[in-house]
Amino acid sequence: MITSVNPARPAEIVGRYDVSDFDAVEVAVANAASAQRHWARVPPPARAEVIGRIGEVMRERKAELARLVTIEVGKIGVEAGGDVQEAIDMAGFVAGQGRASFGDVHPCELPDKLGFTTRQPVGVVALITPWNFPVAIPSWKVFPALLAGNGIVLKPSELAPACADAFVAACRAGGVPPELVQVVHGHGDTGSALCSHPVVRAVSFTGSVATGRRVAMTAAETGPRLVSLELGGKNAMVVLADADLDLVLEGALFGAFGTAGQRCTSTSRLIVDRAVAETLIGALVDRAAALAIGDPLDDITDVGPVIDARALERIEGYVEAAVSQGAAVACGGRAVTVDGCDGGTFFAPTILAGVRASHRVAREEIFGPVLSVIEVDGFDEAIEVVNSVDVGLSAAIYTRDVNSALRAVDLIDTGIVYVNAPTIGAEIHLPFGGTKHTGNGFREAGRRGIEQFSEIKTVYVDYSGRLQRAQIDNR
Ligand code: NAD
Repeated sequence: MITSVNPARPAEIVGRYDVSDFDAVEVAVANAASAQRHWARVPPPARAEVIGRIGEVMRERKAELARLVTIEVGKIGVEAGGDVQEAIDMAGFVAGQGRASFGDVHPCELPDKLGFTTRQPVGVVALITPWNFPVAIPSWKVFPALLAGNGIVLKPSELAPACADAFVAACRAGGVPPELVQVVHGHGDTGSALCSHPVVRAVSFTGSVATGRRVAMTAAETGPRLVSLELGGKNAMVVLADADLDLVLEGALFGAFGTAGQRCTSTSRLIVDRAVAETLIGALVDRAAALAIGDPLDDITDVGPVIDARALERIEGYVEAAVSQGAAVACGGRAVTVDGCDGGTFFAPTILAGVRASHRVAREEIFGPVLSVIEVDGFDEAIEVVNSVDVGLSAAIYTRDVNSALRAVDLIDTGIVYVNAPTIGAEIHLPFGGTKHTGNGFREAGRRGIEQFSEIKTVYVDYSGRLQRAQIDNR
């Protein structure tokens, strides 16, 4: 049994869910496979209409869904609303794609011959999602997978089962055949049973690098499949000496402490030119110390809880490691208690000064409200530090010089780069994903979001009425 609790008040139970064992996974895959055979015959524009209706249902239920996001994963109101809005936007975007081209027509080298490509559903796809965008991330996967004509088994995080159930309920209310989108609940064992199921033809995974590696190995060992991975980051904001420091201040606070630092794109490293470091750290500390930590249901709260006690312990461990390696806690650095939130897992927005690129805190994903400031001498060193980690999701550069900005865009090794904006803020119609250990080359969202859920079929039609031999005839 999984018990989902409110991280602001862990004694408050959000829901209890049976863990799906091997047999339950078997039933879910069989149901999705059987419903998929009918769904694959529905023309894409008609599939898209269903997805559009799901968006309408979600818009009607936005407040209710957002509240659930707040009480299950601790996001403050505006961020919980943003999580749901992302899913609504994704429904609109994917619905529009139902009438877009799924392939290309090519000229052929022989007369009276036509070549074209089309996209085929893969069959049953396994979607495994993390807890931190409990409505948005399932939507990033479910909508394109539906448009491509697949059956779906979703395995949401064991920390956010209620949000996943509410999302799937909205899909069904929008008209998705009930058996087509299945949900299995559980931990790694359930996910692993799903990834290795012989009928599952594609696995789309979002989560940590460590789990992603296990998923990729399980999927590869048990059969040929499409596997797409969207994994962790160690996102950096570069501040050059000529940057607008007021803009930097707003961006760094939002990037580092929004969602209590628990976005895959949260700003974790502030790489600052030494010439402006002292001024910037002083201003940041003043503003970070003034952020309101509290119950995320309360409108005045800026920073809610981290997801659970394990996360709190991990974050504390990183701060201790940083101090033992010579960094200084400029503000925060400790867990805090909040009145009316007994047992809530709150951590103060933390700024670490004097961090070096080699420190553990500067290399590993913390996934909490901790910003490490690394001082550098100029552009070249800044870029070297940005690229010194083994993941590459998002990065930002603040400068007034267009040449430096565009050189940084060229040189930074991440999937997403922002200029004069923080490392968070992706829009759903642009591709999303990362380089190095953050991913394996796929991108979610945008026009290419459908690729991980479909196979290209190449078709040749010869209407000459005779045998024509490519590379041989007419040579
Ligand atoms: P996690 O890796 O702990 O869990 C993710 C999912 O994997 C959960 O559903 C979990 O139950 C499942 N799982 C665990 N072991 C498994 C196994 N052996 N086989 C199959 N499934 C298994 O991640 P989390 O703590 O839920 O989420 C936070 C992580 O996700 C962070 O690293 C964050 O950066 C990353 N993330 C990445 C993106 C992105 O798009 N790149 C987006 C959001 C979050």
